[in-house]
Amino acid sequence: MSVKFRKLALIGIGLIGSSIALAARRQGLADVIAISTRKAETLEEARELGLGDLYTLDAAEAVRGADLVILCTPVGAYESVMQAIASSLAPGAILSDVGSVKQHVVNVLAPLVPAGVSLIPGHPIAGTEHSGPSAGFAELFAGRWCVLTPGPEVASTQVDKLVQFWEAMGSHVETMEASHHDMVLAITSHIPHLVAYNIVGTVADLEAATQSEVIKFSASGFRDFTRIAASDPVMWRDIFLTNRDAVLEMLGRFSEDLSALQRSVRMGDGPALEAMFTRTRAIRRSIISAGQETAAADFGRPHEATPTPTAPVFVREHGGGDDA
Ligand code: NAP
Repeated sequence: MSVKFRKLALIGIGLIGSSIALAARRQGLADVIAISTRKAETLEEARELGLGDLYTLDAAEAVRGADLVILCTPVGAYESVMQAIASSLAPGAILSDVGSVKQHVVNVLAPLVPAGVSLIPGHPIAGTEHSGPSAGFAELFAGRWCVLTPGPEVASTQVDKLVQFWEAMGSHVETMEASHHDMVLAITSHIPHLVAYNIVGTVADLEAATQSEVIKFSASGFRDFTRIAASDPVMWRDIFLTNRDAVLEMLGRFSEDLSALQRSVRMGDGPALEAMFTRTRAIRRSIISAGQETAAADFGRPHEATPTPTAPVFVREHGGGDDA
């Protein structure tokens, strides 16, 4: 029998919080789901969607008596949220989160965690570019990785409970050190987003005539960057502010490799370019064979019988790669 919590408190009820609420409800992982968020209208939206059992703007009230508390706000809000809830956390509770960076989260939360509460930071590597309570869906975590970064002081029984919780929602779970997580995610997620923001930003600065050509012919590659560059600005601001060292380290390597590519192009070095593109193709194949992406033509995008030539089509791709 899988794990069951008496009271699950979700602080923040956007894409990730609402997906946890729906998946936990479907799998019967909590007797009561308490939901708290900052804005009254967001709380009302969550209530209308029936995401939980208790709704409150007071985060301290939501966590009272909860044996599992998960912070699902942008990372930049953690300190103020933690100050509001710390004294109401129940002894024996697990305090977790879903933030896309982990060392910063440990630095901010650990000093405020009361005795008897187990801090187990987490990061589900699953997402879309959509935000808010209505963006969530119960299958978001199915087949996707969730990384947990417990400190050495946390009892393994508590870690096991949280591992079972995520596994019951369909995730594969791995534990690792927070700093290692940040280095891995810098190159697999944060740098790709930076590149996408940069390339789409460059287009935004082009003169209008060229811009309209780019949009018209976007299916040739640019479109895939625009989906990533449409990700939530506040969340991504926080990621680059809080994972600065790992991002800069990986950006240094990226820049060196870009210079090498630039040189190959300038020198007309066909063999070097072909060797590089053959290596990158192999990485793509290994991601598909690991079940982390679709091998379908055009990345599985649905196509109508008669294509509409006027505007670019942006489709929602569940777990399609915009994993913060
Ligand atoms: P989201 O859809 O924008 O939802 C964020 C939620 O946090 C909203 O309910 C918002 O409510 C609330 N919130 C924002 N600022 C707050 C504050 N200062 N105090 C209290 N509540 C606040 O975001 P999300 O995509 O679910 O992301 C949430 C977390 O998941 C982030 O830490 C992100 O790093 C992580 N994550 C995201 C993805 C992804 O692809 N999106 C993937 C993995 C992990 P109000 O409307 O009431 O402000």
